[in-house]
Amino acid sequence: MYVIIFTILSLLVLPNNLFAWGSATHAYIAKQLCEEGSEPLLIYGSVIPDFFNQEHNSVYYDQIAKITHYKLEKIKKESNKRKLFEFSLGYLSHNEKWGADLTAHKKARTIYKKGYVAEKSNIIGSKIRTELEKNFANQGVLFPFILANALSSEIAHPLIEIAVDLEIKTYEDTSIGSDLISSAINRRDDLPDILVSAYAGDLSKKYKIPKTEVMDIIKNAENNFREAIIKYGVILNYDYDLTIDLLAKEGTDLINYFLESSSYKGCSITPEIMKKFINFAIDETKNDYQKEISETIKYLNKRREIKQLCKKIQKQR
Ligand SMILES: [Zn+2]
Repeated sequence: MYVIIFTILSLLVLPNNLFAWGSATHAYIAKQLCEEGSEPLLIYGSVIPDFFNQEHNSVYYDQIAKITHYKLEKIKKESNKRKLFEFSLGYLSHNEKWGADLTAHKKARTIYKKGYVAEKSNIIGSKIRTELEKNFANQGVLFPFILANALSSEIAHPLIEIAVDLEIKTYEDTSIGSDLISSAINRRDDLPDILVSAYAGDLSKKYKIPKTEVMDIIKNAENNFREAIIKYGVILNYDYDLTIDLLAKEGTDLINYFLESSSYKGCSITPEIMKKFINFAIDETKNDYQKEISETIKYLNKRREIKQLCKKIQKQR
C-alpha cells in the first residue's frame, strides 16, 4: 500500500491548479482592458503572476504562487514608482482575489457553482479517468483506477486552460501567439527587479534565508518562465492541427517522465490519448468559453483598480 501512496504523492508534482487561465487567455483579456492593445509590458504583466508555476518542486512553490495571486499592493507600488502602469494593469488583471483568475478558479461569471476552469475540469476529469484506467489496465498495472484517478485530476485543469487558449488563438485573436513571444523577448531587463522588490523581503523573513538567495530564486524562475512563454507562443503560432499535435506531445512527455520516475515505471500514455483528452477539453468549452471571457472582460473594465490605471496610462501619453 505504501508504494501506491508514494506513487500518488510523486504524481502530484505535475503542474498545479494555480494556473487557472492559460497564458494566451490572460494576454487576450488584458488586451481588451482600457483599449490598450498589444503593448508588450501589458501582455507580460498579465502572464507573469504565474512565473513560479513551473517550479513545482520548490519548497517555496505554494507561498510564491499565493502571493503573486493575492498580494497586489506591493507590485502596484513598485511598478507605479517606475511609471510602468501598463505592466501594473496587466499584473492586476490576473489575480485570484478579484481578477481574471477568480472567474477561472472560484467564481465563474456565466456558469454557476465554481470557477469556469474548475467546473469544466471536473466534467472532463471523469472521461479522462475512464480512458486512462483502460490504458493502464491494458499495460497490466495493479489497481489501474488509483493511478488513473490521481493523474486525471492533475491533467484535467491544464487541459481546459489549453483548450481555451487554443480557442482564443483560433477564433478571437490570431496574433496572440506573436504577442506572447514579443512580450517575453522585449521584456525590460529591470522587470524581475519589480518582483524582487515586491516579494523578496517577506520571503526572506518567512523562510529565514538570505535576501540574495531569494533574489536568485525569483530571477531564475522568471527567466525559465520567460523562455517557456516564448516556446508556448511559438507553438500557438502554428496552424490548429499542428498546435494540438505539439501540445499533445509536450503533455505526453511530461506525464511519461513522471511515470518513469515513479513506481509505475514501464507504463506510459501515447500522444494519441493526449490528443483525445485535448479534444475532450475543446468539446467541453467551445460553446461557452467566449461568453465567460467576454463577461470577465466587462467585469474587469468596471473595477475601480483597473479604471484608475487606465486613467494613469492615458495621462502618460
Ligand atoms: Zn494565475
